[in-house]
Amino acid sequence: MIARTRTAEEIAYALPKAKRMKGERFIACCPAHDDHSPSLQITQAADKVLFKCWSGCTGLEVIESLQGMGILPKATGDRSDYRDVSLPPLTQGDRDFMQSFVLLYRSALERGITPTARDTRLYERLNTRLKQEGIYL
Ligand SMILES: [Zn+2]
Repeated sequence: MIARTRTAEEIAYALPKAKRMKGERFIACCPAHDDHSPSLQITQAADKVLFKCWSGCTGLEVIESLQGMGILPKATGDRSDYRDVSLPPLTQGDRDFMQSFVLLYRSALERGITPTARDTRLYERLNTRLKQEGIYL
């Protein structure tokens, strides 16, 4: 399989009841919940595809559903081309802190250090939040 970024249009028309709203913005049935009237907005923003489900699914849930259906390629470990726009944006400082924590946690594990339950919970939360930002470490 050739790994390449799918456009908003290609993703939308792979889903039921897709239609173009305006320019490069599409709406289709959301694959992450039982959707009968289209509530997933898919927008092309330069080289990124932005997802927003008006019924409240997170972008990550949408992206994972699309990957499960084979509509999107699995994350490669690089920065994702697909972004969740349903979340409040992080500052660069937030992002730096979160990435450092995730990397430190992993290097502690590699060195045989047993993390506390609190650190593990924080790690899982931060790692999920980073994925929602399209950052796969
Ligand atoms: Zn949804």
